[in-house]
Amino acid sequence: MMHGMLIHPAIHSDLASQIFMSGTGLLAGKKDFILAVNPLQSILMKKEYRILGAGVKGLTAAFRLAQAGNRVIVLEKESRVGGVCRSFLRKGQVLDLGPHLLWNQHKETRKLIKEIGIGEMVYRKKINHALYYNGRFYVYNRIVELLKLAPLSLKILKPMLEKRFSGEKTSGLQIITLIKAALVRGHEYYLRGGMQTIPNALVDRIKDLGGQIITRTADVTGDFIDCTPHGPFLHSLMFYFGLNKQLQKTWFEAIFPEEKYWFQRLSDPAELAPEKKHGTVIVADRYFKYLPSDISGEKEKCLESLNRVIPGFSKMIEWEETRKVLNAFPLIRSKNFVFAGIEKAVLAADQIVREIS
Ligand SMILES: Cc1cc2nc3c(=O)[nH]c(=O)nc-3n(C[C@H](O)[C@H](O)[C@H](O)COP(=O)(O)OP(=O)(O)OC[C@H]3O[C@@H](n4cnc5c(N)ncnc54)[C@H](O)[C@@H]3O)c2cc1C
Repeated sequence: MMHGMLIHPAIHSDLASQIFMSGTGLLAGKKDFILAVNPLQSILMKKEYRILGAGVKGLTAAFRLAQAGNRVIVLEKESRVGGVCRSFLRKGQVLDLGPHLLWNQHKETRKLIKEIGIGEMVYRKKINHALYYNGRFYVYNRIVELLKLAPLSLKILKPMLEKRFSGEKTSGLQIITLIKAALVRGHEYYLRGGMQTIPNALVDRIKDLGGQIITRTADVTGDFIDCTPHGPFLHSLMFYFGLNKQLQKTWFEAIFPEEKYWFQRLSDPAELAPEKKHGTVIVADRYFKYLPSDISGEKEKCLESLNRVIPGFSKMIEWEETRKVLNAFPLIRSKNFVFAGIEKAVLAADQIVREIS
């Protein structure tokens, strides 16, 4: 059985009353739920599971359990589903808060996406991964550039990644994996409508299968399947800049060791935005153990860096937005961080379901 995972319902009374009030035909008993379903349905249903956390992991686990004929109730403490996999609209652009692409290697995630009916929303896009160092870009999914980068990688990339990934030791093997991944993939998968399309579709499918999602839950006690992330956490600051100009796409996702930022999502609004208003949206993120009290100071530093590498950057800005992502932990703390992310959440959910079935 997985660490921290408890199964079978027993419920805190506040929560029980919330569920009862939700009017879905559930009656809350002292210890167990009693399903107010017709006798045939209750015979066909195998078990009932309460799942904590409506991120990709919790929703995938719930979907799989519901597919297997079980009754599922997903309990989410926030008012929205998706966890860090969340999108929002800004000036007609769909922007992602946490994840924004599906790595090429993420086969299980793409399989799941097809299964939940949003396969047609996925599109492939060529992407350059670059390192900006000492005044120049190394686009390391080109073999020639990679060769130039090789001597630098251990000197620059390794300490930089270790810093980004919270002081975790990065092995030479991981560096090679990272570069190899960039080299062989050359393209990634994106979702029209933003990444929130995934949790939204999962919710729809869970409901189709008779499951229930309850948001804004109070503290839950008793037995449940724990699909919440566990600390220690890192937090991130996301800076979004909508530019009035299409930037030359020499890079798409770039690491700037000297600037301490990871600039990414040089988005092509022709493909991402419902209204083709802006030239480029550029997103910079930075991770922190503790979020700084002066966020505007951080933004200034970020802008300084961007102006250094993209001359006249500030003058191109039409709008900007800053978002905090609390508990951005799942991105890191993976044995092989390169392949972490949504795929890891999907695989963890599959493992949970295998272990309890
Ligand atoms: C900035 C950023 C960029 C990323 N980019 C990518 C990317 O491009 N591609 C990719 O594949 N991955 C990316 N990732 C990683 C990916 O988003 C995550 O690995 C994945 O979404 C994690 O899903 P999860 O369900 O494990 O956790 P979460 O999304 O954190 O979900 C956990 C849920 O549990 C809820 N919860 C917590 N405690 C409780 C409680 N006590 N009771 C009830 N509910 C609770 C939370 O509110 C949350 O909704 C990125 C992550 C970040 C932060």
